[in-house]
Amino acid sequence: MKSKKRWPAKRLAAFAGVIAAGVAIAMTSSWALTSRLNNYAYDFLLDHMRPAPWTTDSIVVSIDEETLQTMGGQREYRAILADALTRINAGKPRTVAIDMILADRGDDQLDARLEKAMLATPNLVLSCEIVGNGWEDPIPRFRQTAVALGEVYSVRRKEDGVSRVVPLEQTQGKVRRWALALETFRVFRGARFIEEESNDNNLVVADSRIPAPREGADRPLWIRYRYEGIPSVSVASLRTNPALASKLTGKAVFVGVTAMSAARDRLVNPYGQDMPGVEINAQAFETLQQGRFLTPARNYAVIAVCFIIAMAAGTIFYLMSGWWSYILSAALLIAAHSVPVIFFLGGIIFPYSLAISTAWLSVVGAAAFQYFSTRRELRTSQSDKARYQEAIHFVTHEMRTPLTAIQGSSELMGRYNLTDDKRKQMAQMINMESKRLARMVQTFLDVERLSEGQMEMKREPFPSRLVIESCVDRVRPLAERKQIQLFVDSLSDDTLLGDRELLEYAVYNLLTNAVKYSPAETEVHVESVRDGDSLRVSVRDQGIGMNAKELRSIFKKFYRTKKAEASGEAGTGIGLSIVEQIVVHHSGRMEVSSEPGKGSTFTIILPAGVTATTK
Ligand code: ADP
Repeated sequence: MKSKKRWPAKRLAAFAGVIAAGVAIAMTSSWALTSRLNNYAYDFLLDHMRPAPWTTDSIVVSIDEETLQTMGGQREYRAILADALTRINAGKPRTVAIDMILADRGDDQLDARLEKAMLATPNLVLSCEIVGNGWEDPIPRFRQTAVALGEVYSVRRKEDGVSRVVPLEQTQGKVRRWALALETFRVFRGARFIEEESNDNNLVVADSRIPAPREGADRPLWIRYRYEGIPSVSVASLRTNPALASKLTGKAVFVGVTAMSAARDRLVNPYGQDMPGVEINAQAFETLQQGRFLTPARNYAVIAVCFIIAMAAGTIFYLMSGWWSYILSAALLIAAHSVPVIFFLGGIIFPYSLAISTAWLSVVGAAAFQYFSTRRELRTSQSDKARYQEAIHFVTHEMRTPLTAIQGSSELMGRYNLTDDKRKQMAQMINMESKRLARMVQTFLDVERLSEGQMEMKREPFPSRLVIESCVDRVRPLAERKQIQLFVDSLSDDTLLGDRELLEYAVYNLLTNAVKYSPAETEVHVESVRDGDSLRVSVRDQGIGMNAKELRSIFKKFYRTKKAEASGEAGTGIGLSIVEQIVVHHSGRMEVSSEPGKGSTFTIILPAGVTATTK
């Protein structure tokens, strides 16, 4: 495993930003766009984690095709129902729920017959439903025979027509009704009330607690469908074989229309099975009765899981690179794919799309970030190297000039008999050139050591004026050669504390740059002025100048502007980086203003009379 250097804060922040953006995109897009994927995943999990078939406490008594055919068709519902109830009661069920809306008055005689049958039915639960702006309830003569009234959801064809939930409560016109399945369950359990826990998340019926967090106006109950369906007997078969009524003993009976031709509420369950509304109600009852609840994961849990996934992706790419990072991110992706499965085992529905999109986006984001930042690093180090080589090339080239002079002079002295005067002149030249060479080498070494923080800087007081004057004297011949006029505008008498040689190097550098990067017949102005606690030493020229982008880079080692390179002036791009380091080591700073084609002003700002720090 290859571990890497720590990242700088800025890069780390950018990295965190990329991952956070990934998570944000995942969250917004998943919640809005991918409910289909989540539904698909939900159906898949439900199908693959089916509980073993259990003995149901409910049974459906169906008004099926055959019943309608033998008993007179749809117009005879009330007669059929009255007849069915009498036969059902013979089986002594515990409760009977009728999933039919009996809101209209019919033939009086028929209604009276049905009312009688209802009165004889133990624990009868009737249905109501929302129509328009109100509730459609059974007519009073029926209503009074029932112990409870439960809502049947008006067919809720959600986006894909699969019935996954029933609302446990519905409110219309300020009147709230509990679901038919829930009321039947309450009556079945012999409970008097459906209690709401104060946190609004659970309902309590007898000793059973039903997780029912609100989702908008609903409290959806996710139905844990019994794959084998709910047992059923048809009214027609009860007629032909009354003994079948014994199947109903002690059960919750759901009566409803199942005939294809008549049932208006047929839906598909997540297993892909076609199902009449009455069976869906019975299935919901079974879910309550079995206590096999599924609830959607809370938002904070979802956010926490996504956060952990994103953090994991970030950590992998922060700590590792190459194969290890790929292997671990593959593992992370697999883990993210199994998050919804693990939650499902605990009865919690986790948005599948969110887990995987967070994982994918953060892994891809982190990997891309790593790739591009490594590439950039490589590129900068390559160009650093190239520039460094250039600089070395230049230095050796520069060294050659004094070396050639020394070599030539010493050879002449050895080979010929020279006059004393000539000999003296040559000795002087050798001395001067070797000193120049030594100075060059010393500066390079000093600066390298300075930048690595190894050098003890001198700290002595000296008059700032002397430093500037000596630099100006040295530069004057260069300026004259280029026909540039050099002006000293004003010089302050302040004392500076620090390393005189280094500061002289800095000022000299600014002056030579001003001369180097200015055309003939221009002016260079130098001044030093006291400004509060600081001394400002500035060099102003009328030269080639720089644009804002170039200004940002000139203090980088080996950087040269294109114009500077084109000017034909020799340079390494090291000078200013050294100047800046020297100034910073003296607790000072640099200011530069420049305009292309107009000129530049470089200012060194130093604490006047304040001790220089050694770093
Ligand atoms: P060098 O002069 O050896 O190239 P420096 O580090 O001294 O290196 O300067 C870096 C670059 O900054 C120069 O190459 C040049 O492009 C730019 N520069 C410095 N001083 C001036 C100036 N007075 N006018 C215009 N450009 C300048």
